[in-house]
Amino acid sequence: MATIRPHWSYSAITQYLRCPQQYFFQRVLGIPSHSIGTGLALGSAVHAGLAEYHQRLQRKEAIDTEAVLKAFHECWDEKELNETIQYRDGDNREDSIAQGVHLLELYFKEPPPEGIVAVEQRILVPLYNSQGEYLETPLVAITDLITETNEDLTVKEFKTSGRAYSDSEVESSLQPTCYVHAVRETLGRDANVEYTVLVKTKTPKIQRLKTSRYAEDCGRLGDLVQTIQRAVDLGIFYPIENPMNCSTCPYRQPCRERGQSLRPQELVQLQVPQEAMAC
Ligand code: SF4
Repeated sequence: MATIRPHWSYSAITQYLRCPQQYFFQRVLGIPSHSIGTGLALGSAVHAGLAEYHQRLQRKEAIDTEAVLKAFHECWDEKELNETIQYRDGDNREDSIAQGVHLLELYFKEPPPEGIVAVEQRILVPLYNSQGEYLETPLVAITDLITETNEDLTVKEFKTSGRAYSDSEVESSLQPTCYVHAVRETLGRDANVEYTVLVKTKTPKIQRLKTSRYAEDCGRLGDLVQTIQRAVDLGIFYPIENPMNCSTCPYRQPCRERGQSLRPQELVQLQVPQEAMAC
């Protein structure tokens, strides 16, 4: 089996910021998660459908919506097979699947993206801090879609959400920074980032938001990752309990049973395995 090189990712960075203890259970102790929230399951299945659609566009093949929906259903079935999907707030299986299909069909009605350069591209790049010093552990970014039109590179990020995004959410997110940094380091060019939000409201809609990041943002990202790395190396893992974090957390039981009883010195003694920072 191929060894995964230790790396940081947007999801690892934000998981530590959201709840260091959850990060500890998943990425340090390596406790597998056997459950997934409906939102995440639906997001993954919609992404699988979108990837199939965009790959066909890139290959200039005729669009076969059946094949796209098949990719969606296969991903959903795989999630169901491997994890328990946690339904909440009146969600159920049939409505969730119908909602995903509806969102994809809505997207097919939009003008298709032009100038597709890459679909689901995995990019491994070094990180550097604001002093220009490179960090030991690199960053992996997986872009949904990269397009180039009129010499403008755009990284397109797709989200499924129960509500529209605000401008400030997109402006303050670390995800566009990860993408822009990855493109700068691989292609030596600046890119813009466009969010396409498939909004799961009663009448689903598509929202688009654009944002930019600059060299100083990439340095700030490096500073932040360097600080998190120091905290991980020191064994600083603590719970951040709130309804948003805990209601769908797959580690509620170990968090109750063991998490609170781990003293800092015990955490320091734990060896961080190689795959601790994998996506
Ligand atoms: S249950 Fe809450 S506090 Fe505990 S690990 Fe999960 S998110 Fe963190």
